[in-house]
Amino acid sequence: MIRAKVLDGGFSGQLSRHVGAKFDDDPLWTARFLQTNPSAVYNTHLNYLRAGAEIIETNTYQASVSGLMKHLNISMDESLTLLAKAVELAKQAVAAYMKEKTTEDEQNAEKPLVAGSCGPYGACLHDKSEYTGAYGKSVSRQELMNWHRPRIRALLDAGVDLLALETIPCVKEADALVDLLREFPQARAWLSFSCRDDRHIADGSDFREVAVRCYRALPEQIVAVGINCVPPNYVKSLLQEINKDSDTQGFIPLVVYPNRGGSYSETDEWIPVPDNQRINLPVLEWLDLGVRYIGGCCKVFAEDIRAIRSLVDRYRLTEQQH
Ligand SMILES: [Zn+2]
Repeated sequence: MIRAKVLDGGFSGQLSRHVGAKFDDDPLWTARFLQTNPSAVYNTHLNYLRAGAEIIETNTYQASVSGLMKHLNISMDESLTLLAKAVELAKQAVAAYMKEKTTEDEQNAEKPLVAGSCGPYGACLHDKSEYTGAYGKSVSRQELMNWHRPRIRALLDAGVDLLALETIPCVKEADALVDLLREFPQARAWLSFSCRDDRHIADGSDFREVAVRCYRALPEQIVAVGINCVPPNYVKSLLQEINKDSDTQGFIPLVVYPNRGGSYSETDEWIPVPDNQRINLPVLEWLDLGVRYIGGCCKVFAEDIRAIRSLVDRYRLTEQQH
């Protein structure tokens, strides 16, 4: 049995508590703070570690090598150095967090891991196409591989423990990423999709079919497949079929980190769950479906991760008793 691990929450929401600025319109989004305010990035990581995250993601979701060069007006070498710095900030936060532990039990606890965040090609187009995957029709698999390769290499070279290939909206990009992983046989990664409803990834393909196929293509490198940045109410339906034949077909570890969720008003306007309202995620139910990596995406904050961690801890205890 693979023990479930708790991830961090949405980076931008927690970071905004430190920088107090709006940056959703910035084409680099949170990545600009690697250059302008690294201590805020470090403190955001530390918030999540103190809340119980066992894996934190680097602040590189929207930081492609080409995007950093263009929007910060820096060279390729400087862009690669900035990606390495993102990894270093996460590692420094882990080191500082481990030093805070006082009891022997705490000090013997597993050291949190650092996952290199790789958002999709669409995130860097900065036109919300990571939620439609429309570019899957116009960009080739090879182009997607060429675009992802330098960041993946830089993150691995800087020593991330694994990769978070996330918010993938189209089949073509998933296939490109699986192909690219084969070029880095030592690398481990989870593959996480953005979904348009409770059955389909953003480009309309069947989630279960794509996820299972990708996992089975490279189980020695893919640690989990799943979903992120989806509203919590889609999760059960998306995941529940995947492990129903696990006795005969083999177990597939799942990753889930939903956004805060919300609902549509009578005038069809999306109303997010307020930041100060507790989100009660059915964590135990998701763990029963085979979720082995669980955290939060946009607008899921450190206090929400703390709540998830306590539910995961409870689940581990009941497992031990069986
Ligand atoms: Zn998100």
